[in-house]
Amino acid sequence: MNLVKLRKLFYEEVAKCTRCGFCLPNCPTYAVQRTEAATPRGRNALTRAVIEGQLEPSAEIAASIFSCFGCGACTQACFPAVKTRDLVTADRELLVKAELHPRIMAKLAESLNEYHNISGDDNDERGDWRELIRGLPEDAFEKDRAEMAYFVGCVASFFPLAQRIPAHAAQVMDRAGLDFAILGGQEWCCGFPLLGAGQPEKMGRLIEHNLDKVAELVAELL
Ligand code: SF4
Ligand code: SF4
Repeated sequence: MNLVKLRKLFYEEVAKCTRCGFCLPNCPTYAVQRTEAATPRGRNALTRAVIEGQLEPSAEIAASIFSCFGCGACTQACFPAVKTRDLVTADRELLVKAELHPRIMAKLAESLNEYHNISGDDNDERGDWRELIRGLPEDAFEKDRAEMAYFVGCVASFFPLAQRIPAHAAQVMDRAGLDFAILGGQEWCCGFPLLGAGQPEKMGRLIEHNLDKVAELVAELL
C-alpha cells in the first residue's frame, strides 16, 4: 500500500464519513480511551487528512490506527455504512511501509515465521486440546488420509479458554461418524493476523503450506 493506492482505493469511502458521531457509542476503544483519536470518526478524519496530504503518517496516527479492534461495530451504527475497519487495515499497510507500526506487530510476524503460531508455542503442541477428552490416544484424529481436514486454528489450539471448542467439535464429528483428521503440528497459522498487522504480503507462505498439507491428506472438505 502506498499513498497513491490508498487515495485511489479508499478516498471515496472515507469521504462518506459526515462526522455525525453516531458510531461513537458502538466503538469499544472510544468507550475506554474517551479521545477523538480512538473513535471511528477520528480514524476516518486521520485517514482523509493523510490522503489529502494535510498530515504526514506519524507515530500519533499509528497509535490511533493500530488501537482499532477491527470489530466493525462502527459500520453497524453508521448511516452511510462507512467501512472504517477496511480503511484502518489499508492505513496499517501504509504505516508498516513507513516503519511506524508498533513493535508487537513486528514480533507477531517474527513469531509466525519462526513458530508458525501466534503465541510462540512449540507448534507440535497444537493437538494438546485432545488431553481434555478422557481416554483418548495421544495421536487421536491424526491420519494419513481422510475425507475431511479439521483446521483447528491457533486460538482454539493453544489458548486454554478456547481449547474446549475443538475438544467438543471433534467429539461431535467423531460420534457422527465423519472421516476427519487434524494436521497437528503440521498445521500452521492461517495468516489472518497478518492482515490486521498490515503485512498481508507475508500470508502467502503460510497459506501455501496449509494447502499443501491438506492436499496430502486428500481432504475433500475443510
Ligand atoms: S463513521 Fe459513520 S457514524 Fe461515524 S461519524 Fe462517520 S458517518 Fe457518522
Ligand atoms: S472497527 Fe475500530 S473504529 Fe470501528 S467500532 Fe471497532 S474498534 Fe471502533
